[in-house]
Amino acid sequence: MGIGRTVGIGDIPYLKLAACGIKLKLQLRGLYVRSAERKLTRLHVLFMHLLYLDDSGSAPNENEKYFVLAGLSIFEAQADWFARELDKLAEGIDAANPAGIEFHASAQYARRTAPWNKMTREEAHGVTKSVLQIVASSYDTARVFACAVEKSSIPGGGDPVAVAFEDLCSRFDMFLSGLRAAGDRQRGLLVLDKTTHETSLQQLTRDFRKRGTQWGSAIHNLADIPFFADSGASRLIQCADHIAYAVFRRYHVGDSQLFDIIAPKFHSVDGVIHGLAHKTASANQAQCLCPACLSRRMARSTTPQHP
Ligand SMILES: [Zn+2]
Repeated sequence: MGIGRTVGIGDIPYLKLAACGIKLKLQLRGLYVRSAERKLTRLHVLFMHLLYLDDSGSAPNENEKYFVLAGLSIFEAQADWFARELDKLAEGIDAANPAGIEFHASAQYARRTAPWNKMTREEAHGVTKSVLQIVASSYDTARVFACAVEKSSIPGGGDPVAVAFEDLCSRFDMFLSGLRAAGDRQRGLLVLDKTTHETSLQQLTRDFRKRGTQWGSAIHNLADIPFFADSGASRLIQCADHIAYAVFRRYHVGDSQLFDIIAPKFHSVDGVIHGLAHKTASANQAQCLCPACLSRRMARSTTPQHP
């Protein structure tokens, strides 16, 4: 932090910087910052790529085969566009208080709470699709990332949350390395839904510096530890929620209706979908027809083999 230009960090109204015990309150409109140690009137940060992440599926729930961590990488300056598009959608649901509408895919599916309980199943499903269509129609440089972990495939009762988190950090880092090689030297920041605190994500975050050391050479392009944002106030976290939900439906029940809307947005290079990982037993991977497994198999089959 700390050179030249004054910018916002997407649409994040509240960030809690856990490292070093420093708490920052960041209010979007005036970019007003307060800290216990010193008062700043502006926060100076580099422009950067932000990866908003949310999870779907419960890691300890034995009735669910999959745990998914997924989200959306955007260039910082694109955040306003997403916020405006989702605000417009919210105005169609509650014109008097669009800011009070929090898009939450599983709540829209369940239709137990307002305003979704006043909608038909088709209407609520239509809202979920509309959010995903906003993601699908966004900037070319906005990219979707996801890791679907089949829990039974993790050896020794490992933690699916940790597997997905490490995998996505690594994928995002590789994505940033690719941009850097093409001349874009911006770094990246992870932004997570703060309600994921019931999972071990927050613990992983607390360990991030240690884990970063442990990963050593693996992670080069992340600017800081991950941040937590309030999903109720961040339209980008709400997009991540829908992406995670769509990927979870694709792998958990084989319903690709929502997944197909965002499938073209996964980060890919030369036909290989690097933005999507399917963690399953290798025997399953060899036959799996999901875009992640299939694109890698096809790439291997067309790569000339040395004798
Ligand atoms: Zn697969």
